[in-house]
Amino acid sequence: MYIAKYIVDALYPPSCPLCGRLTEKGSVVCVRCKDKLRVVGDPRCMRCGRPLPAESEDYCPDCQSMRHWFDQGVGVFPYQSAVRRMVMDLKFRGKTVNARLLGRWMAAYVKPELVRWRPDVLVPVPLHPRKLRQRGYNQAELLAARVGADLGQPVDSRLVRRKNSTEAQMGLGRLARQRNLERAFAMVKDRKADGNILLVDDIYTTGSTVDAIARVLKENGAQNVYVLTVCIGSDF
Ligand SMILES: [Zn+2]
Ligand SMILES: [Zn+2]
Repeated sequence: MYIAKYIVDALYPPSCPLCGRLTEKGSVVCVRCKDKLRVVGDPRCMRCGRPLPAESEDYCPDCQSMRHWFDQGVGVFPYQSAVRRMVMDLKFRGKTVNARLLGRWMAAYVKPELVRWRPDVLVPVPLHPRKLRQRGYNQAELLAARVGADLGQPVDSRLVRRKNSTEAQMGLGRLARQRNLERAFAMVKDRKADGNILLVDDIYTTGSTVDAIARVLKENGAQNVYVLTVCIGSDF
């Protein structure tokens, strides 16, 4: 009995992951935050999954003006939502426990897409080895592990690697960043991509990171590349 309670508490800490207040027994987020868990609904961009204003085109301005390497993507929560704090805590403050809940929400959200996408494997966006050493974990890998476990899908964290670190990106304009990113990823030695791949990351902003990875994967044998993130930006 004691151990069972401990396990439940470890999975669902009694404090709200969004605001830190105590939650009622049995609920994951507190009463006040329940409304804040609004996921991205329709209409959303048919390519990248960004929320769109009602009665708009099928594609966001971004996807209308440029061709992406990935085939389609979805993000669960708008970037401005309360969930962003959970993502930041996971990414920068060592709160790895957040990956469980976020991953669970991602898995539930992406389920309807899987019928069409039929991914063969989930691939987390890799960190540069130096960054991985500093942080001690790759948040995208933790999320992918949770999503993979919930959906019964294998996860491959050793398919693509990051050659250039993001520090080199600071102070660069969008075009220069993009050019840098195009060369930032490579296949892991002796690995080939195959079938349909679902890329997993924390936040989708410009899409240039997942695009660069999708390109490498497609040039090395991947058929289709899809994208799943926790948060997705909507401002242009
Ligand atoms: Zn709360
Ligand atoms: Zn779009």
